[in-house]
Amino acid sequence: MRIFKLKIDFVYIAILSIFLFIYSCFIYALTSHNIAEAINDMVKGHILAKLFIPVLIAAALLYLVWKAIVRHIMKPVKKIAEIAEEITHEDLSARVDIKNPNKETKYLISAFNDMISRLESSFKYIVESNSYIAHELKTPIAIIRGEAEIALKKERDNEEYKKVISIALDESKKMLKTIEDLLLLTKMTYRPEFLNFENIDLNQFLNDIFEQSKILTAEKNISVDISVPEMSERVKADELSLRRLFFNIIDNAIKFTPQNGQIKIDVKYQKKKAIVSISDTGMGIADEDIPKLFDKFFRANKEKNRYASGSGLGLPITQSIAELHKAKIIVKSKLGKGSTFSVVLPILSH
Ligand code: ADP
Repeated sequence: MRIFKLKIDFVYIAILSIFLFIYSCFIYALTSHNIAEAINDMVKGHILAKLFIPVLIAAALLYLVWKAIVRHIMKPVKKIAEIAEEITHEDLSARVDIKNPNKETKYLISAFNDMISRLESSFKYIVESNSYIAHELKTPIAIIRGEAEIALKKERDNEEYKKVISIALDESKKMLKTIEDLLLLTKMTYRPEFLNFENIDLNQFLNDIFEQSKILTAEKNISVDISVPEMSERVKADELSLRRLFFNIIDNAIKFTPQNGQIKIDVKYQKKKAIVSISDTGMGIADEDIPKLFDKFFRANKEKNRYASGSGLGLPITQSIAELHKAKIIVKSKLGKGSTFSVVLPILSH
């Protein structure tokens, strides 16, 4: 390997020498009083004899200086390569740190360190998600197994067997819902091209949602109201996903609002934005829980809503849909008083 490197060095020096020699001859001919005599000297080889050693030394020196400069320039790159070799999926904490870097190197280092930070948080997210998913699927499987084991311990009557089968059915439905929601989330993040964007009349769209909400709230005797401006606006949206976004919020409002409560859908159009606020008079959310609402599998008030909560993926899906529509969701809530989820959507200009 070393011999190969040396050979390459010699080849470079030889090429450099040839260029230097041609250049010297050119200058010699130009500065000579008698160009014909100078050309004659060159042809006879006098010049070659005179210039051979100095040109060779100059070429070797130039080559060494050039190599030193390249080595100096490549120092941070080498350092980055060393750090990159240290990084594995188990330890992504390494960062490049070079004292007094120049402007370009600083840019390179910060781009590299930022990339590692992004990878680190993605890995952390994947690891955390995996453990959450395992936990979410473990609970229903443990319930099904426990019920089946108890049922098989001795002879039971039909009613008891039916009860076990119905528990197994409920738990498998929950698992299926979790898996479907996870697949949907992945699809939205990595293959959002399945969405079919079209212009939607927002008043009409929200009035339809309001009519369907009345059917859903009837069971708990919750009243629903809507207030929309007279003049409608249009938004560019995938209708099915946008319906899912609003129904996820409305479903939660129904789930976490006690019997005889109220839900209000309030629509405002201002400064090229549509603000659709869905308020309820439900159990509310503690201040410290609000920032965690859109995390996968997060459930607030765990004790109180153990029976009401679903897959814990409703709001993360809602958030993904909002992002795909360039929309924002703002949550305001007071524990024991109720919550308001406001969806801020860009509207189409006339
Ligand atoms: P879930 O399937 O549990 O409803 P979500 O992601 O839709 O999952 O909601 C996450 C958590 O946020 C819920 O479990 C609940 O604690 C809280 N939450 C969401 N909406 C409301 C609401 N309108 N009122 C009170 N709590 C809510």
